[in-house]
Amino acid sequence: MYFCETMKKHKKTKIKSLCKLSKKEVEANLDEVALLVTNPKHICVKCARVAKKGSNLCEPKGISN
Ligand SMILES: [Zn+2]
Repeated sequence: MYFCETMKKHKKTKIKSLCKLSKKEVEANLDEVALLVTNPKHICVKCARVAKKGSNLCEPKGISN
């Protein structure tokens, strides 16, 4: 995971599933992605992505930390 501060055009995009994002989409929506993955409570057992809400993952499994 890395965070870089790039000056991109701010597109307003509603991310539904983190699993379906390509690397470019992640980069383009970094602020929103960062919000969704802060303090993750779920992990996707297929993609190994994490999210606060299980609804943002295709196969969410609750995690405890
Ligand atoms: Zn997934």
